Amino acid sequence: MLILTCPCCGVTGEETEFHAGGEAHIKRFGPGSDDEQFHSYMFAKENAKGVHFERWRHNNGCGKWFHAARCTTTLEVFGTYSAQTYEPPKEIKDKISARRPGWSWREFA
Ligand SMILES: [Zn+2]
Repeated sequence: MLILTCPCCGVTGEETEFHAGGEAHIKRFGPGSDDEQFHSYMFAKENAKGVHFERWRHNNGCGKWFHAARCTTTLEVFGTYSAQTYEPPKEIKDKISARRPGWSWREFA
């Protein structure tokens, strides 16, 4: 089972305490964008096997959204952090690099 810690209130719980909200750090396109950009925003998700960045909501707690960095194959959680960021904090990036040598970083929006 996936165990997450809400960075907003500090509560640690099983994934049933939270609600998954899809991929984190998605580049959003609004008015003025072309069809291809909007299509990529709506439908082209990363669906990673391995390190993945996700949005979660503490449904049965404080109700706030946050981000989680985890491995989709082992359920290892590298860390959770505020949703008000454009990319993961350095300590989480360092932890991922140490645990998954050779893993390549994508560009964050
Ligand atoms: Zn919380």
